[in-house]
Amino acid sequence: MNRRTINAVVILGILSLASILLIQMISINKTAAIQENSVIIQQREDSLNLIHFKDRTYIALRDVLTQIQINTSDSSDVFQAVQQIDTNYFKVDFNTDLTSFQLETWLMREFYNQNLHHDFAYSIYDCFDSVTTFSHLIRYSGTEFQADSSVQVERPSYEFENMDHYFTVYFPNTQFGNSGVETDGGYSPYTYLIVIVLLVLLFFGYAMVVIFRQKRLSEVKTDFINNMTHELKTPISTIGLSAEMILRTDFKDDPDKLKQYASLIFKENKRLENQVERVLNVAKLDKEKISLKKESVNIHELLEEAKDNFEFNSSEKGGKFELDLHADNYKINVDPVHITNVVYNLIDNAVKYCEKGPLITVRSWSEKAHFIFEIEDNGIGIKRENIKMIFDKFYRVPTGNLHNVKGFGLGLYYVKLIIEEHSGTINVKSTLGKGTVFTVRIPIN
Ligand code: ADP
Repeated sequence: MNRRTINAVVILGILSLASILLIQMISINKTAAIQENSVIIQQREDSLNLIHFKDRTYIALRDVLTQIQINTSDSSDVFQAVQQIDTNYFKVDFNTDLTSFQLETWLMREFYNQNLHHDFAYSIYDCFDSVTTFSHLIRYSGTEFQADSSVQVERPSYEFENMDHYFTVYFPNTQFGNSGVETDGGYSPYTYLIVIVLLVLLFFGYAMVVIFRQKRLSEVKTDFINNMTHELKTPISTIGLSAEMILRTDFKDDPDKLKQYASLIFKENKRLENQVERVLNVAKLDKEKISLKKESVNIHELLEEAKDNFEFNSSEKGGKFELDLHADNYKINVDPVHITNVVYNLIDNAVKYCEKGPLITVRSWSEKAHFIFEIEDNGIGIKRENIKMIFDKFYRVPTGNLHNVKGFGLGLYYVKLIIEEHSGTINVKSTLGKGTVFTVRIPIN
């Protein structure tokens, strides 16, 4: 997938995500408005019902009081005597003796007359002996009121400072104001929207990561094939040309020339062999677990040898190699072959990625249980965005189509693998155009 296709996929993805979000938001807003309206309507209905209920209860209770007055010597003020204590709780004062039976009969009749088909319970307070008598629940069966002794009515407890008799009426199953629009357990539609959006984003993000990973993998593969082709083609064509020269030329008069061609073939063949070896070695590392053959190695000695080697090879090209070794404990338990390869890989890179005369500084020091060494160069440096990938297999910092520096992008992959096998770490700091420092820490034991 090329960059254009990926960009198109990203833009299309974002656009479709935004439209889904917009549609969701609009429909949620509409639903919320409808819900709000029905809540308002319900609240109005509730308050109207409450007013009707209160009015009819007042009328019924006043009629009951009138009945009391007709049948007894009661002289209470019919309008003052009835009080609403709560929406479903009423109190009526009177000042005569009254039996439960009488009251129950009148209450049933008057509630029925006022179409108050609500279950109720009553109590009578007798101020002479300060006793309150509580009724059972009186149920409305659909046609008439009937006492139901099976139900214990829990009444709200109110303290009344009364000198007189009074009775109360409580409607336990009558409530107003909580018949509003049903909600779904307190989760607003926005919560669902957020969850859906997060899931979609997560999926989208994951898809993008996979696409970018695939893209990078295919770029790395192409780079590797290009490098490989180039690296192998050069020695093969040199060998071919030299062999052709040998076949075509008569070297009777100039046997040295023949030797020159033969040594060129030999050198290029060796180079070819090395390249193939390197690729095969890393391929082998992938398949097999590395088995380290650890022994006590004098790392300072190893670094000094590397310096001698550098000076021998670059005597004509110029360049400097400085050692600044301060570690106390420089004999550590490592695999000598692999650690030597690590040191040489890092030094080779320091030389390879330097456009002027290389200035390499190698330092060492000890820290608690670690031996640390760092290799600093004054080379081309690495861009910040490329640094995190340089240890990946086959990765080479993109240099366009220039192949002036040879390599397969396997050196640092191998270095990291070996350091980690020794339970160590490798870090890199680099400034573009100024140089790079690789720091390696290896546990002493
Ligand atoms: P290569 O075979 O390409 O040298 P490496 O794995 O050794 O592979 O390095 C990976 C990439 O890291 C190189 O292609 C190079 O761009 C970058 N690199 C490594 N060492 C240095 C360095 N000392 N200075 C600048 N760039 C470096």
